[in-house]
Amino acid sequence: MKENRHSEKLSFLDNPANFQSILEQITDGVYITDKERKILFWNRACEEITGYLADEVTGKRCADGILEHVDMSGNKICSTDLCPLHRAMITGKPSQTPLTVRAKHKDGRRVIVEVSVAPVFDISGKVIGGVEMFRDVSRKIALEEEKYRFISSINHDLKTPLTNMQGYLDLLLDGDAGELNEVQKEFAETIYSEEQKLATLIDELLEMSRFESTEFSYEQNIMDLADLLRKAVHSFRGEAQRKGLVIEEDLPQELLIMGDRNRLWQAFTNLIGNAVKYTNEGKAEVSLYRHPLKNEIVIKIKDTGIGIPSDDMENIFKMFYRADSHETLSIKGTGIGLYIADSVIRRHEGRIEAESTPGRGSVFTIYLPALNNEESSE
Ligand code: ADP
Repeated sequence: MKENRHSEKLSFLDNPANFQSILEQITDGVYITDKERKILFWNRACEEITGYLADEVTGKRCADGILEHVDMSGNKICSTDLCPLHRAMITGKPSQTPLTVRAKHKDGRRVIVEVSVAPVFDISGKVIGGVEMFRDVSRKIALEEEKYRFISSINHDLKTPLTNMQGYLDLLLDGDAGELNEVQKEFAETIYSEEQKLATLIDELLEMSRFESTEFSYEQNIMDLADLLRKAVHSFRGEAQRKGLVIEEDLPQELLIMGDRNRLWQAFTNLIGNAVKYTNEGKAEVSLYRHPLKNEIVIKIKDTGIGIPSDDMENIFKMFYRADSHETLSIKGTGIGLYIADSVIRRHEGRIEAESTPGRGSVFTIYLPALNNEESSE
């Protein structure tokens, strides 16, 4: 009985026509190419999403005016070494996470699609082509943008009265409404510092909900990681100078990756911000290099600050966790910065490791996958 069912299953799968009919029916666009990326198969969903019929595209290269994938900032991906299908064929590996790109519809408009790719092997294990699957996520992205606009408007509505209160407290403390006695001054200063805590909390909670609401729409842009880190370091120079700290940087001229620029900015500024915030004397250092042996990019953010007690190390990446030391708790924070940084880096198929010695400082090391060397020679 068991054997029968097994052989039925085999005969069904042995028939290529059955496979083709399954691929035709599924709602994601699926197309298969040879090694030169000439289209061999183009299913019905591809026709619906792009407007191109199978007869029009079969035998043509997908990069030749058909899909014209560009990243979310409009940079060309097709026919560059960043083409995911090309990378899958070179590396022999499928994509790990879907890539959000814009594809061309036959009528000229752009459709936002989420793309996954995989190489196709022959029986001896040699790569003979590739398969790309894509789905239209234009509506999902539009909804997320609406959510983002809503959150930004709440941010504005909540922050405006707080900023006004802060302005009036400034006037009170400056004596513009008459000289305050010691007790009145102390009360006004307490209101001022509590109001500031509230403002920070609103900022961070809104940042968190913005992060959550757009969790699924990771963009993939061709971007220069060295430039992003240089700008992130620069944005903290003023704060560091006020504390008497230096921020040293060891960054190459350029290092291109595919990534979500805004998300990575959020992750790096959280880490560099912490290095400055939790350091009272000495320095912070930010370095970036490509690992000479492994296919990895390594970013190190070091500081000579207060460090993290060993008991807290395993929890610091958890949401809202803060080290339970007097020194940490006297510094403003909400415990979401590392959670966000960790999530962003994981979405880029990377990881963060932390080492720390209380009283001596901390090192946060980020590993991100690099492009293969061979990939740059199409
Ligand atoms: P926040 O700084 O807002 O508290 P984070 O999520 O950025 O939140 O960090 C979580 C906790 O990890 C911090 O509260 C602090 O205890 C610890 N931490 C993070 N970075 C550093 C650092 N560079 N030096 C010392 N402690 C740190």
